[in-house]
Amino acid sequence: MAGVIRRLDETVVNRIAAGEVIQRPANAVKELIENCLDAKSTNIQVTVKDGGLKLLQIQDNGTGIRREDMDIVCERFTTSKLQTFEDLSAIATYGFRGEALASVSHVAHVTITTKTADAKCAYRAGYSDGKPKGPPKPCAGNQGTQILVEDLFYNVSTRRKALKSPSDEYSRIVEVISRYAIHNSGKSFSVKKQGETVADVRTLPNASVVDNIRGVFGNAVSRELIQVGCEDQKLAYKMNGYISNANYSVKKCILVLFINHRLVESSALKKAIETVYAAYLPKNTHPFLYLSLEIAPQNIDVNVHPTKHEVHFLHEDSVIESIQKHVESKLLGSNSSRTYFTQTLLPGLSVAGGSEVKSSSAAAESSDRVYAHQMVRTDCRAQKLDAFLQPKEKPPPDPEPAGPSGREAATTAAWPASEEMEEVDDADMLRALAEQEAEGSKGNEDDANGAQRKRPRKEQQQQQQQQQQPEEVDEDLTAVTVPKRRVIKLNSIKELRAEITENTHRGLQEMLQNHSFVGCVNPQWTLIQHHTKLYLLNTTKLSQELFHQILIYDFGNFGVLRLSTSAPLYELAMLALDSEESGWTEEDGPKEGLAKYIVDFLKKKTEMLEDYFSLEIDQEGNLTGLPLLLDMYTPLMEGLPMFILRLATEVNWDNEKECFRDLSKECSMFYSIRKQYILEAEPGQEQDAEVNSWRWKVEHIIFKAFRTLLSPPKTFSEDGTVLQIANLPDLYKVFERC
Ligand code: ADP
Ligand code: MG
Repeated sequence: MAGVIRRLDETVVNRIAAGEVIQRPANAVKELIENCLDAKSTNIQVTVKDGGLKLLQIQDNGTGIRREDMDIVCERFTTSKLQTFEDLSAIATYGFRGEALASVSHVAHVTITTKTADAKCAYRAGYSDGKPKGPPKPCAGNQGTQILVEDLFYNVSTRRKALKSPSDEYSRIVEVISRYAIHNSGKSFSVKKQGETVADVRTLPNASVVDNIRGVFGNAVSRELIQVGCEDQKLAYKMNGYISNANYSVKKCILVLFINHRLVESSALKKAIETVYAAYLPKNTHPFLYLSLEIAPQNIDVNVHPTKHEVHFLHEDSVIESIQKHVESKLLGSNSSRTYFTQTLLPGLSVAGGSEVKSSSAAAESSDRVYAHQMVRTDCRAQKLDAFLQPKEKPPPDPEPAGPSGREAATTAAWPASEEMEEVDDADMLRALAEQEAEGSKGNEDDANGAQRKRPRKEQQQQQQQQQQPEEVDEDLTAVTVPKRRVIKLNSIKELRAEITENTHRGLQEMLQNHSFVGCVNPQWTLIQHHTKLYLLNTTKLSQELFHQILIYDFGNFGVLRLSTSAPLYELAMLALDSEESGWTEEDGPKEGLAKYIVDFLKKKTEMLEDYFSLEIDQEGNLTGLPLLLDMYTPLMEGLPMFILRLATEVNWDNEKECFRDLSKECSMFYSIRKQYILEAEPGQEQDAEVNSWRWKVEHIIFKAFRTLLSPPKTFSEDGTVLQIANLPDLYKVFERC
């Protein structure tokens, strides 16, 4: 018996259509944050309850919606962004179909509170099935819009049932927001569960793309990024982004892809890129990429369905091939020999408008032709074998007994930075395991108390990983949920970070990123090559700056270097006062009294020192732990007494920002590579590989970190910290004459 064909009720039709547009909470979030961005918001805050099924609240500080438009915003096909069909091809905003709000209002209870700049107050209205439930009511509110979506799919029970757990939906929401946050650096985003005070992802308005990648995906990847950028006028596309280098890999490829500022997927592009990396990464491991592609609007169908993330565009194959080539060239540049041409002298310098590096010889850089003698083969990222043969961390030979100065207090770098266990390469992993085992067999109980704070995190992570392995976890979600950095909201720290960013000399930064390490002259001076020039760098000043920046950027997020024997502060202070460097005179009063004062003073600060700087002092006034600033790096313990003395006497403890700045300066001085290291390499002991451990540290830890972690300040180009001492073409001329 044939069924009777009936016209469906209009609300049912709308509901079905809406369910097509909004399939899950994360789709709604994506549409709603795109609306915020369209409205020029710079601050977008998302609150979620039950994975967005109970509540989704999106607050922005954008242009707001005019009162007279409030009646129709939730109707289908109402939009302020498009008037004619032709506009479609030149669309610059995200939304254009006027469909998102309408769809949401058909499957949830929507409340909009909004205020434009020139309105006297905000207005609020509730919506269902595309229509306002009543006229907008005036209310208090700041400029911007808040969209509240409650009981999503309350009237579509099948959809509701089809959704996985709320926590899964929440992860998807966090993923969408963190990706938009990375793409929109300069704007701040946050997402949290309702009732929680701490956001799961939060980005700052002055953060860079790399800062945001660090915040979302962790340090391990953000340290290993290469900036990419290419353009092809014929293919009418432009691409920018960051890709991981060959030192980094993950179990699943992470491709954060934006095309014309919309988060999309392109399996063709992903596949093409994976092929490139296959030649560089260990088997079954994958890269991380953030790519922002801009394609001439007429070449791409912007009219993609909100849930249809997979995109296609005109000349797709050629564009992909072109991107593939670029990625390959960047990877190659970081892995094998490269030919430099002299006319590309410090490219970053002119771009950034920064000043030239002080130079002892002016080079003629004008000719367009490149002669053989102007080329030089260097390999700025070549890994030497000795990078894997780290001299065993051992206290340096002891010329005179130093009491508790830390010579005996050999530190046990308990584990690589906790977040990074997954990513350490095999060599590191083996070493870490060996160390752990050695520790275990010694029955070392030192780390029983404090280590608990950090260690379980690592174990938890490993457990998590194990749990995740059996069932195939949905692509990429894991990446968002794994790294949890403590978010630092202190303005003082934000300001200190901003100062570092503003002060960066881009040319020097580029030089440090792409240098070839030549060798150490002594602990204080190091030679590097960049393009065809040889530079002498002040390792002490650069390394101090590096540690200062790490202290400010990773503030409150350090691992602990636990001292195998705790060091009494009193004796450290006495040692410092005994040294000439302290400048103690009789007028300062008896040393014992001063030392006692220092201990009492620092004991009052222990909570803060431990919480923010991982500087641990026990109740008896013994130093038990120091911050782990760089994997595998421990400071020279000779500096410990002076560090303790200066901590108590040179830090302005009254002003928050000054205090953090001073503390970080003192700490970075202690951690820096200094002349004292020469003690390790007394002449005659040179044959002993271990005495050269400072050389190894400088090359493989400090200068490696310079590539990715240091933003050199502008002053370094003028104050003799970086000196150009030779230019290869000039040298050729010298040799030709010989
Ligand atoms: P579209 O974005 O395609 O125009 P939407 O249904 O997403 O359609 O939004 C409808 C209209 O509501 C938008 O054109 C815009 O004028 C307004 N609107 C929505 N969200 C916001 C917001 N956060 N701030 C300002 N205006 C908004
Ligand atoms: Mg929209």
